[in-house]
Amino acid sequence: MRIGVLTSGGDSPGMNAAIRAVVRAALSNGDKVFGVSDGYRGLVEGRFKEFTRSDVSEILNRGGTILGTARLPEFKYEAVRQLAVKQLQKNDIEALICIGGDGTYAGALALHHMGIKTIGIPGTIDNDIASSDYTIGFSTALNTACDAIDKLKDTSSSHQRCSIIEVMGRHCGDLALYSGLCTGAEYIFTNETGLDKEKLLKDLKENRLAGRRHAIVVISENMTDVYQLAKEVEDYSGYECRATVLGYVQRGGTPTPEDRLLAARLGGFAVDLLKQGVSGVCVGVIDNELRSTPIEEALNMKNIPSEELHNLVQKLK
Ligand code: ATP
Repeated sequence: MRIGVLTSGGDSPGMNAAIRAVVRAALSNGDKVFGVSDGYRGLVEGRFKEFTRSDVSEILNRGGTILGTARLPEFKYEAVRQLAVKQLQKNDIEALICIGGDGTYAGALALHHMGIKTIGIPGTIDNDIASSDYTIGFSTALNTACDAIDKLKDTSSSHQRCSIIEVMGRHCGDLALYSGLCTGAEYIFTNETGLDKEKLLKDLKENRLAGRRHAIVVISENMTDVYQLAKEVEDYSGYECRATVLGYVQRGGTPTPEDRLLAARLGGFAVDLLKQGVSGVCVGVIDNELRSTPIEEALNMKNIPSEELHNLVQKLK
């Protein structure tokens, strides 16, 4: 079989480990693998390169993606996808492994409906793909966020400040919830919890009056202007307050062993499924078992925030 592999959407640490796993697993089956540059854009433009075993040497521990990634909104149009199908046919590539988030999955599903065998692998730091307990990159991003929050906590405590830290996650609160819990944040706000600003201000004022030296607030991106919020906290609570947006540092860095392991397992599994003639599914790990789910179903699954963890935050703060 001739298999293409691409990375698409936002990059995430561990994508390289997934590419390596796909290439090596396919080669060991006697298949041929073609790396597609820059996601669906490179697919439409026919930018393929046949990969040998050594082409994926020494990338296991590197962040980012050696294939490059891109966003091509026009891929929603069938006429644009037809160009991709033509490029694949021209190169006799019958199957495609697409590593990315839900947008990438939507592209893979559309190609499946056009007769290309496709498998999706969850590669995103956001952990927003409900068909897998964890996505490749989440563990590394969580490590990065925890490291940064720990450091901010040191300085907040020394100066008796309140620190507001905005973390990534798109519309999924996992990165905020997990990093906040792991660093002992007093307040965690996500799309799932909402932000009750009045209550936060009142609580912080009480904390300050009770003599607590610092307060850490972790908040998901896209919820509010954290710089403005810091000003309001300062005006109201008596704490000096600083806001920090962690931003793109969360997308980089050496993947953790957890992300490498997940990437290796999911890459190998995706190749096995193609060998069995399966298409239009995405792979994941649920309760530590490898699972495949039809992409259509996966795209309609809701991320359920962990009630247990949210309750713990309240108890431990
Ligand atoms: P991340 O979660 O990191 O942002 P993602 O895969 O969700 O990753 P998107 O930008 O949403 O990132 O999608 C990646 C690419 O997938 C898009 O640029 C586009 O080429 C393709 N895509 C997205 N939605 C669709 C769709 N409905 N139909 C076909 N292709 C799509």
